[in-house]
Amino acid sequence: MNIRPEEITSIIKQQIEKYEKKLETVDSGTIIQVGDGIARIYGLDDCMEGELLLFSNGVYGMALNLEQDNVGAVLFGEEKGIKEGDIVKRTGRVVEVPVGEELLGRVVNALGAPIDGKGPINTTHTREVEVKAHGVIERQSVKQPLQTGIKVIDAAIPIGKGQRELIIGDRQTGKTALAIDTIINQKGKDVICIYVAIGQKQSTVAHIYNTLGEMGAMDYTIIVSASASESAPLQYLSPYSGCTMGEYFMHQGKDVLIVYDDLSKHAVAYRAMALLLRRPPGREAYPGDVFYLHSRLLERAAKLSDELGGGSITALPIIETLAGDVTAYIPTNVISITDGQIFLESELFFSGQRPAVNSGISVSRVGGSAQIKAMRQVAGSLRLELAQYRELAAFSQFGSDLDKEAKKRLEKGKRLSEVLKQGQYEPMPVEKQVMILYAAVNDFLTDIDVDRIKEFEKSFFEYMDTHNRDLGKAILEKGSLDEEIKNSLNEAIKEFKKVFLAEE
Ligand code: ATP
Ligand code: MG
Repeated sequence: MNIRPEEITSIIKQQIEKYEKKLETVDSGTIIQVGDGIARIYGLDDCMEGELLLFSNGVYGMALNLEQDNVGAVLFGEEKGIKEGDIVKRTGRVVEVPVGEELLGRVVNALGAPIDGKGPINTTHTREVEVKAHGVIERQSVKQPLQTGIKVIDAAIPIGKGQRELIIGDRQTGKTALAIDTIINQKGKDVICIYVAIGQKQSTVAHIYNTLGEMGAMDYTIIVSASASESAPLQYLSPYSGCTMGEYFMHQGKDVLIVYDDLSKHAVAYRAMALLLRRPPGREAYPGDVFYLHSRLLERAAKLSDELGGGSITALPIIETLAGDVTAYIPTNVISITDGQIFLESELFFSGQRPAVNSGISVSRVGGSAQIKAMRQVAGSLRLELAQYRELAAFSQFGSDLDKEAKKRLEKGKRLSEVLKQGQYEPMPVEKQVMILYAAVNDFLTDIDVDRIKEFEKSFFEYMDTHNRDLGKAILEKGSLDEEIKNSLNEAIKEFKKVFLAEE
């Protein structure tokens, strides 16, 4: 064979030319496939995981699958107008959202853009949505109470600042109501609230926005909404965006409460994305890293050390179960990540016990140390008594004869459950909770009819507000029930009971 040197040099020349061309184009690639909100792109050689990409129609996307010869990306907007062969540009940034005080009172989408029609949000700062959670040294233990204003929770399943407490239950059991009441109760308590709505109806979000507005709670609240009509990638991103907005305040030493409503839908959105990206499906067709999906989010809730300002993020994730099945994949995952869970049951809900909290199987693993002492004093035996009551109630359904002691317990339990009922949008300050629970656990309600307990409670507070204003203040200031307070409380309750029973 005859090899001509000119031929070889020309090939080498060509390759060198192409090599340079390639160097020029590393910052953009071309689309080889697009559809279902997913794009595959060739030529994005230096693309980072999670990098923001700009498509030809102005829509942004995020690189998620970095494969050998292509990049799989999800689109944050419509794929209309994007076609095969189009150029995709790298931005060199990972996904960021605006943060700052300007967001308070606003409704934004998962990318932090306003969707409440109240004009642009002029923030000066942005932060990355995916950051690593704070480490062990940077934290301190949970020790301050986060009052939900809901008697059964503050007494039996207390939540502390920096805690992650799961709200779990079937559909329509009052999960959202619990979270919204907790947000309303933060009024005047210097806590920033963030409500993340994932995969919900727009009308539901609008309703929540109006309610919070009417209650004066929007002044300190941000709503991040990725509704059911939005693409799976936006739903996937929304809790991380909300958390990022919260971290901005936490790093200023403030306390933040964040509600993720709900993470079941979040997992479903992630599953849809992962399947379209052709990641291998695992149990219930969720991808293998669905545990990490939620653990890295919930680990970002923290109580920071004093050196870092002592700020906190308290997270209330919500999970929806099917027919009370907590052994499904996502519920068990999130139960194991959080510091406790509040179980809501349809049965209780429909029997009129609202909030429908099953205090027997609900727990708070760290919040107990955060309770104020006065509450700990009255709530000490509450869980036990309620548990015994439930057992007896089940037993007495068979019409079996109960001894005197058991009957007494049963009657007391009935009154306790009645006291724990609470309407929606009626959070109660902690000193009032202490007073009524004190009356209930110390047998002051035994001679009041069960149907009159609610009425008793209402007029009792009216009475205390007019005749005994200082007692509530004293409980708050001292933080515990000493002999002096106990005596005056006993006196006050007895006095009031005379009036109340005479009215009858
Ligand atoms: P979904 O599964 O649809 O998200 P959910 O579990 O979040 O439902 P909510 O929407 O909070 O439940 O509540 C369901 C219904 O129960 C609502 O109509 C709400 O007004 C009512 N409700 C919730 N809590 C209470 C309460 N404490 N007292 C009276 N009604 C309540
Ligand atoms: Mg709900």
